[in-house]
Amino acid sequence: MNMAGFYDESISNGLGWRAVLFVSGCPHNCPGCQNKIAQDFNYGQKFNKEEIINRICENSILKGITISGGEPLCKENIAEVGQFIKDVKKVRPEFNVWCYSGYTFEQLAARNDETTNKVLSEIDVLVDGRFVESEKKPNLKFRGSANQRIIDIPETLKVHKVVSLDI
Ligand code: SF4
Repeated sequence: MNMAGFYDESISNGLGWRAVLFVSGCPHNCPGCQNKIAQDFNYGQKFNKEEIINRICENSILKGITISGGEPLCKENIAEVGQFIKDVKKVRPEFNVWCYSGYTFEQLAARNDETTNKVLSEIDVLVDGRFVESEKKPNLKFRGSANQRIIDIPETLKVHKVVSLDI
């Protein structure tokens, strides 16, 4: 997997101070995509998991990690993203994990495959769905278009229906 970028600290990609990993590669090709260059799976640099985890470990201000892209949960990236989340939690078990995906929660659940289910169970918040230009609004928090939902994944998995985070 390649990574398109990494922020050591951010407060605009989820609640609280977070490290943000942007993976390379996305199959969705949403019109108006703000990160078109990251749709290319070969864009950026080879993802060096150990280096990124070291950078996260050294930073005591961080409350969590956000995985964005690109598309973290496509078939090309999901296994490596899942392993990364697991390894981050080994060193920072208190971290909460946000993930952005162009797939909806329902599409991910319908895959009914072990890797996707495992990764979902490691995520605290999923911002789901493709970017839709006609739904773009200026005051949306943590998302680009109004169709995208900010989903509380542990609660959603518990009650078997989508529960949005109250932000
Ligand atoms: S899902 Fe995100 S990265 Fe992928 S094409 Fe859509 S806006 Fe761009």
